[in-house]
Amino acid sequence: MAGPSDSKRFSERTRLVLGGRDPSEQFGFVNTPIYRGSTVLYPTYEELKARRQRFVYGTKGTPTTGSLERAWTELSGAAGTVLVPSGLAAIMVALQSCLKAGDHLLVTDSVYRPTRQYCDTVLRRFGVETTYYDPLVGADIGALMRPNTTAVFTEAPGSQSFEMQDIPAIAKAAHARGAVVLMDNTWATPLLFPPHERGVDIAIEAGTKYLGGHSDILMGLVTANERCWPALRETFDAMAILSSPEDVFLALRGLRTMRLRLDEAGRQGMAMATWLGERPEVKTVLHPAFPSHPGHAIWKRDFKGASGLFSVILHPVSEQALGAFLDGLELFGMGYSWGGYESLVVPFDCSTYRTATTWNPGGTALRFQIGLEDVADLQADLAAGFARMKAAG
Ligand SMILES: *Cc1c(COP(=O)(O)O)cnc(C)c1O
Repeated sequence: MAGPSDSKRFSERTRLVLGGRDPSEQFGFVNTPIYRGSTVLYPTYEELKARRQRFVYGTKGTPTTGSLERAWTELSGAAGTVLVPSGLAAIMVALQSCLKAGDHLLVTDSVYRPTRQYCDTVLRRFGVETTYYDPLVGADIGALMRPNTTAVFTEAPGSQSFEMQDIPAIAKAAHARGAVVLMDNTWATPLLFPPHERGVDIAIEAGTKYLGGHSDILMGLVTANERCWPALRETFDAMAILSSPEDVFLALRGLRTMRLRLDEAGRQGMAMATWLGERPEVKTVLHPAFPSHPGHAIWKRDFKGASGLFSVILHPVSEQALGAFLDGLELFGMGYSWGGYESLVVPFDCSTYRTATTWNPGGTALRFQIGLEDVADLQADLAAGFARMKAAG
C-alpha cells in the first residue's frame, strides 16, 4: 500500500484514510497501536551518546503520537503539530511559544471564554498585556497595534456569538507589522478552513470536539507554519504537556471518519437551524451559512462548509419559561463542549464579560450542537419544549 511519504498526491478524503499510518512498521496491522512508555532502550553506548534513534524518551514522542502528528500536519498544510491534553492547553502552549514578558497581545472580544481567563490571569502575571478588540475589525487591526504587539489572536466564528472574522485581512495587517497571527479553528477544523493557506501562523484545534467526535476524550492540537514551528516545538519540548496514549489512539480512530461526520453535522445543523428560523419563538439564527448572517460573505469566501454548532436568539422569555423548555427535553442534553454524536443545548450570555464590544442580542440566547439523531425526532423534541415554554408563560 501507499506509504506515508507518497500520500500527498492523493485527495483529502484519501489522505484522511492513509494519514500517519505505516502498517509495515506494525507487523501489518492496519492501525498504529497504543504505545505506552517512558524509557526507550539504546542498543549501544555509541547510540546513547548520539541519541540517534527515532524515539529517545516518552516525552519526545512515540509511534502513536507520531502517527497523529504526521496526519494532522499534512491535513493542515503545516510545518508541524504538537499534541496536548486539552484544547485550552493548546491555546496556552501556542501563546507561550510566541510571547515574552513586556509584549502586548491583541485578542478578539468574541474569544472562547477560558482563553480570556488565561490571558487575564496567568499571562498578565508573566508580564504580557492583553487588549481585546472588536471581532469585526478586519484590516483596521493595524491601528490597534503598538510597537510591542507581537501576536494577534483570532477565532472564527466567535465562540457562542458567531461573528465572522476576516482572517486574511487581519493576517495581512498584522504581518505588515511583524506580529504572529494565531487562530482558534475548533469550529471549522482544517477540513472546513485551511488556516495556514489563509494567513494564520499558529492554528489551534480542540480535538475534544470533531476529531474525537464521541464526547469521550480531551485533546488539543497546535499546528504552525515554517516561521513559527521551531518556537512552538521548543516550547512544547520544554514543558512536556502530553496527551495520553489512549486519547491519541481514539483521536486517530476519529480522524478516519471525520470528513463523514463533519459533513453530516453540517447538513443536520443546517436543517435544524432552518427549522428553528421558521419558528415564531425565534428572533434570529446565528449561523454563518445563512445569507442573512452579517458574516455570510466572509464565510462563503473563506470557508468550505459549516459544522453542526450554531446559536439562536429567542424573543425574550422568563427564566421560568426557559427552564420549562430546557428541563423537559428528551434528546437534547444540557452540557458544555460539542462535536460529539449527540445533540446539546446551552443558554449563554456574553454581556457580562465583554470589554471591547457590547453584546445585546435583544432576547434569550441558546447554543445548539446538532448530533446524528433523526432530524424529525429532534424537531419534535424542540416543538414540545416550545409548547412547555408557552404554557409556563
Ligand atoms: C471547547 C473549546 C476549546 C477548549 O477545548 P477543551 O479540550 O475543552 O479544553 C477551545 N476553543 C473552542 C472554540 C472550544 O469550543
